[in-house]
Amino acid sequence: MKNLKKPTANGQKPIATNFKQMKKLIYFLILAPLFLLISCTKQEDAKQAEDSINAADLEKHIVALASDEFQGRKPCTAGEDATTQYLEKAFKEMGIAGAFDGSYFQEVPLVEMNYTPQNELKLKTKKGVLRLEYITDYIASTPHIVEEMNIKNSELVFAGYGIVAPEYGWNDYKDIDITGKTVLVLVNDPGFTTQDSTLFRGNAMTYYGRWAYKYEEAARQGAKGIWVIHNTKAAGYGWNVLTNTAHSNLYMQSEDNTAEGCALEGWITDVAAKKLFAACGFDFEKLKKEALNPSTFKAVNLGSKLNLKIKNKLKFTSSKNVAGIIKGTDTPDECIVYSAHWDHFGIGPIAKGDSIYNGCADNAIPVASMLETAKAFANLKKKPKRSVIFLSITAEETGMIGSQYYAKNSVFPVEKTVANLNYELFLPLGRMKDVTITGYGQSELDNYVADAAKEQDRYIIAEPFPENGMYYRSDHFRFAQVGIPSLFIKGWQDSRTHGKEWAKQQINNYWATAYHKPQDEYNPKTADLAGNVEDAKLFFKIGYRLANETKFPQWNKTSEFRAIREQSLKRNNQK
Ligand SMILES: [Zn+2]
Repeated sequence: MKNLKKPTANGQKPIATNFKQMKKLIYFLILAPLFLLISCTKQEDAKQAEDSINAADLEKHIVALASDEFQGRKPCTAGEDATTQYLEKAFKEMGIAGAFDGSYFQEVPLVEMNYTPQNELKLKTKKGVLRLEYITDYIASTPHIVEEMNIKNSELVFAGYGIVAPEYGWNDYKDIDITGKTVLVLVNDPGFTTQDSTLFRGNAMTYYGRWAYKYEEAARQGAKGIWVIHNTKAAGYGWNVLTNTAHSNLYMQSEDNTAEGCALEGWITDVAAKKLFAACGFDFEKLKKEALNPSTFKAVNLGSKLNLKIKNKLKFTSSKNVAGIIKGTDTPDECIVYSAHWDHFGIGPIAKGDSIYNGCADNAIPVASMLETAKAFANLKKKPKRSVIFLSITAEETGMIGSQYYAKNSVFPVEKTVANLNYELFLPLGRMKDVTITGYGQSELDNYVADAAKEQDRYIIAEPFPENGMYYRSDHFRFAQVGIPSLFIKGWQDSRTHGKEWAKQQINNYWATAYHKPQDEYNPKTADLAGNVEDAKLFFKIGYRLANETKFPQWNKTSEFRAIREQSLKRNNQK
């Protein structure tokens, strides 16, 4: 029991206590206004910094980055030099230091591989020899940096969706040793196939539905090779999209060039898969149905072996990520990373008389917007408590390689990186009432967006086509993949002046006429940058809040990245 204070005879507290209380009151009277003053000036400071973001400065950056002089900003060309030098100069002029031990540049070692797989496969099956043709029936490549890849006698196994997802009680690789074998897996995830909203995330694609995940999981299982079975509806794109880009690819160089990925990666058409299964004595449609039941499905050995040779031409090269940093005052080793890829397609095939792929919306406006957010941070009188990094990334268009490299070689460890905010594909359509969140529901960062949006009299809304898996298709995803909560947001769906239908038309028009074409150009006559200014301010608000608190926002329970983050934070606590 606590000792109770003895009351004095007249019931009043002793004078000493009164004096203590008086002292407390005096402190309160002095300190409270002081705190108020500090927080007011802090708010005022942030407000002034944010207000320095403006359309004229934004436009200056856009005009430069999207100009013909920058030649479409292709990595490893003169366009890269122009772009990266421009970014370095911009950071220097703002007084922002280089993020990589004082340098603004991070060298990203790359290798371009041109594949020539053998033209025809002869598979010995139960019902005789089955011939499959390259491009018509299958595509094949290898991520291993070798001049020749030779797959010999690798058993073919159907492994359902190729998914191991403990949070959904799903394991397509249970009770089978897959080492050295080649797996055939279905594209997308069971939720999409069944459109059952209680299975995975229903119509919305999860990372488990992406081919990239399936490649990674097969490698983790020790498979020699993987073929994803194509289906236009489930993949979201036709077979031609795959064959157009099948001949070459850019990869990150790693220390051990054979360590990552299966020796064979590729796709097979559903028509060819059906033939193959039938030749091996199996009914493809029946197995597809069985693969939807995780408690009874077991991977099936098809009883046929794959022999396949791939010849590679290798070209070693390198490109640069560019980044500036504002060091935190209290916890400088914790950081917020803003990102926007600078690269685009350079000079390419002529379309409508133009061959320079200027990449204005993709991604000159976003890079310019990030520079404006950076300027606001640089203008703060009181610097943020945590460090803030502004990272402009290379080789996004060729497989998000710059961000993949950064995630492996980050300025601060992954577990000290609080959040990533990514700028990608901004159209100059004027002010928007909405803030569209791609990957809505993934993490607590949604609340930060909602609060900042409210300050701008805007509302948050989910991206309208989650079945396309856009959340897994830009640089923020490389942060998510290593567990860092990341945001992909912008005004997109609800024009303040012209409404929703108009916004939709503009965007559809962009997809049809300009996206990844020379027509993605800056037109000062039609561009309205007011919405982009507002978005740059929104990014500032969110980052400013994150950089001045001690909290680490978490992934939501249903997120496929939550377990990865928990692991890495645990490692951090053990240090
Ligand atoms: Zn882009």
